[in-house]
Amino acid sequence: MSESERVSGEGAEPKEIAEFRLEVRAWMEANRPPDPGFKLPQSFLEVESERQLDFLRAWQRKVYDAGYLGLDWPAEVGGRGDPAKRQRIVGQELARARAPFLVNAIGLQWAGPTILVYGTDAQKKRMLRPILSAEEIWCQGFSEPGAGSDLASATTRAEKQEDGSYRVTGHKVWTTLAHAAKWMILLARTDPSAGKYEGLSFFLFPMDVPGVTVQPLVKMTGEGGFNQVIFDNAPMPADALLGREGQGWDVALTTLLFERGAAEGSGGGQATASGESVRALVSVAQRARRETGFAADDPVFRDRIAQLWIEEEALRLSALRARVPELNADRPQALRLMNKLVYSEYNQRLSELACEMLGPDATLWLGDPCAVDRAEWPRAYMNSFGMTIGGGTSEILRNVIGERVLGLPKTR
Ligand SMILES: Cc1cc2nc3c(=O)[nH]c(=O)nc-3n(C[C@H](O)[C@H](O)[C@H](O)COP(=O)(O)OP(=O)(O)OC[C@H]3O[C@@H](n4cnc5c(N)ncnc54)[C@H](O)[C@@H]3O)c2cc1C
Repeated sequence: MSESERVSGEGAEPKEIAEFRLEVRAWMEANRPPDPGFKLPQSFLEVESERQLDFLRAWQRKVYDAGYLGLDWPAEVGGRGDPAKRQRIVGQELARARAPFLVNAIGLQWAGPTILVYGTDAQKKRMLRPILSAEEIWCQGFSEPGAGSDLASATTRAEKQEDGSYRVTGHKVWTTLAHAAKWMILLARTDPSAGKYEGLSFFLFPMDVPGVTVQPLVKMTGEGGFNQVIFDNAPMPADALLGREGQGWDVALTTLLFERGAAEGSGGGQATASGESVRALVSVAQRARRETGFAADDPVFRDRIAQLWIEEEALRLSALRARVPELNADRPQALRLMNKLVYSEYNQRLSELACEMLGPDATLWLGDPCAVDRAEWPRAYMNSFGMTIGGGTSEILRNVIGERVLGLPKTR
């Protein structure tokens, strides 16, 4: 490609892509919703009230109606059949505009892409469009009280009935958005006599059937967002099965790959490291008062901010590298696993540093008129722990990278 076909801006991009970016940027500027006047959650993990949900749903719907969601999903299921690159640009511009997040994240990033791989035509046709428009919210029913890191130990039963339908009995926990969800991607045991992995099946479970109890759980910030879900002989139709019976573990591993970043930029997956977060940190440093001057004048804080900026740039470049198949042929998922691990820990260090710079001001909480940035930083620091646990804890990811990527001996 000649230089004349490129334009400057976000690095050198092909002209057509750069133009698309500018179009999306202008749209975000013109359409980003004003502050609703009530507390918004920081991510889809903390949505609790109806009004938060309504506001965020309306925003996702607006982005979809404008043609900026599902760009890389097939047109016959509500998408546009464009290259994934364009969807990533929308994600980056959403972050850049500090626009609200897309609330149906589990549908967009994990359930939808999994249905695209394993779904029948009927399932794709039924399920995918309402994911994009946020008409139907999705949740993920994998973890159980006795099966988190060791997910294959799940004991929730889906018992087949004579007519081919199922009855579900069991207990899921940490189920984000279950209180708002119309559907759940459900991992359940269909054959307890088969091996641990072979006995599992994967379902698209309708949450509005009898026998389902959703109980909210409270996080350390005092916010809700996740739940436990009890199934008591809950009916589930035969066509809820995704893939084959007994194939659930393979399907779940596909979902986990998406959860750990393989669907980044797909459907509406939001971008991660974008340079926006360190910019926000710099702004805190410029406003955080120290005994003499501001945190931004302190060489130690400046040094730590610079270090985080370097990490953020490394993450951005790693994410770019992960998208080039030729650079990942030997270890296809290695970079994505590493990026999930490093990003979640980087994000934690970032909000921790903001709190350190704020000093005693970091103890001011939501609703306090003196709190800097409406107490978003201490809230972000507490919420950051969830990111190092959900989708595989940091310890588990280190094990997987050590054993499967670096070829180190198994610990046990
Ligand atoms: C904010 C948030 C949202 C979530 N949303 C969902 C959701 O929507 N749906 C869903 O299904 N789940 C969800 N989860 C659950 C999440 O997937 C689990 O918390 C996670 O898999 C860990 O499982 P656990 O909590 O049972 O911890 P455990 O597996 O009991 O682990 C406890 C500790 O032991 C460590 N550990 C365990 N095994 C090993 C090992 N072999 N080697 C070294 N260390 C080990 C872990 O790293 C951890 O520190 C969410 C979690 C969080 C925090």
